[in-house]
Amino acid sequence: MKFGGTSVGSVEALNRVARIIANEEGKKVVVVSAMSGITNFLVSAVEDNRKDLNEVIETFREKHLNVAKELFSGELMDDFMVEFEKRFTEFRNVILDKEMKKDPYYADNVSSQGERFSSLLLAYVLRSMGLKSVALTSEMAGVYAVGKPLSGSCDLKKTEGGLNVNVRLLLDDDIIPIITGFYGVNEDGKPLTFGRGGSDYAASAIGNAINADNIQIWTDVNGFMSADPRLVKDAVTLQEMNFSEAAELAHFGAKVLHSRTIEPARLKHIPLWVKNSYEPDNHGTLIHHIRGQRKEPLRSVAMKLDLSIITITVGEISYKPVLLAKILEKLAEAEIIIYGISTSLSNIALLVHNLDVKKSLALLHMLDSIDIERINVRSNMTLICAVGDGLLNRTGFCGDVFGAVKAVGASVEMISEGASDVALNFVVSTDYATEVVKTIHNKFVNGSD
Ligand code: ADP
Ligand code: ASP
Ligand code: MG
Repeated sequence: MKFGGTSVGSVEALNRVARIIANEEGKKVVVVSAMSGITNFLVSAVEDNRKDLNEVIETFREKHLNVAKELFSGELMDDFMVEFEKRFTEFRNVILDKEMKKDPYYADNVSSQGERFSSLLLAYVLRSMGLKSVALTSEMAGVYAVGKPLSGSCDLKKTEGGLNVNVRLLLDDDIIPIITGFYGVNEDGKPLTFGRGGSDYAASAIGNAINADNIQIWTDVNGFMSADPRLVKDAVTLQEMNFSEAAELAHFGAKVLHSRTIEPARLKHIPLWVKNSYEPDNHGTLIHHIRGQRKEPLRSVAMKLDLSIITITVGEISYKPVLLAKILEKLAEAEIIIYGISTSLSNIALLVHNLDVKKSLALLHMLDSIDIERINVRSNMTLICAVGDGLLNRTGFCGDVFGAVKAVGASVEMISEGASDVALNFVVSTDYATEVVKTIHNKFVNGSD
């Protein structure tokens, strides 16, 4: 059971979540995000050199202690304070240690601190209700990560070993472990975060590691919806989806799930629920291994902002497979994520994040310039991901979608169709992206056409 930032962001929210946990039958492992706003606060403390770090430390302490004072008293509060001070001493050291600042994983360490305190608060709320619970950091639980700073991947095999040693015995004793989401420990024993919003992914990885019967992602909406409800007012909640549909949407911008949440669950066929901690009785969305044609071609649409198209022109590149391989190899060296590829006889177009453009160009310029005629960059691009199990079998569907794009006045800059059997991806200028999403949603999900 994973609870997001707003679900653990206040005294009321923590009490509500504790009731949900208490009402859930069977053995459970809980994963939490930091209280809402805390990770942003920590990230800005690292990024803004002018911030008074002692003030950061004090604000952080006050925020958590104020909540604790409302929730606990007497002996429980004394016990809480012992664990709190231990974690707080470490927190203060991380923030103030000048040597640590030089470490490439420093920002991971600082931004992972919020989860260490929200997990402690929740464990004590459960104790105050007479339940047995312990707060475990990812270090204590044995959640392992590999990869570059701020974009770790969970080492599922090692994590399975870690949890078997550190968590399974607690479950046998009916103790509810509350584990920090968002990060694992790298091979040097340092915290490595999974990217913003990474507690969903941590929960799925932990579910995989303990062979859970199901994984529940508790958030602040009724489930996975047909579009971002902040963007599309009449978006509807989906009762169920298959793994592929949810995975494509999460990867291409549906913020309700971290982009990599589905894979650890899918690997072990573990059903994943998205549920609302404010309305626990609501059905939510069940994401699992179903397939089959549904009435509606389009089920949900997401968009991924901040992308650029890099087009590399090489005469007859199609006849130069070695050069093509070298281009991809160069970008792989820097672990650049490619969100889309499109080719013609003499061009290859690659869709990458804006922040990766400079690095990509530097790497591409290291290739033999005799072969490469031109490299062109178009920025301000947004990828629209339209998903539905039966979408590509529906004759004329793409034409209808592109008709809607034209109606908005936008043009399609790049297309990927057929690679996935559930998704149609295309790129438009960011200036039109929101309007395109609204129009497509209105035309195909609400069926107002
Ligand atoms: P948490 O803190 O629980 O992880 P997030 O804010 O990360 O919650 O994710 C939940 C939010 O995702 C919702 O409040 C909603 O605004 C947004 N969202 C974006 N796309 C979708 C979608 N397709 N379905 C549901 N919610 C979405
Ligand atoms: N607290 C982290 C973040 O804000 C992780 C998460 O919320 O999932 O990104
Ligand atoms: Mg989230």
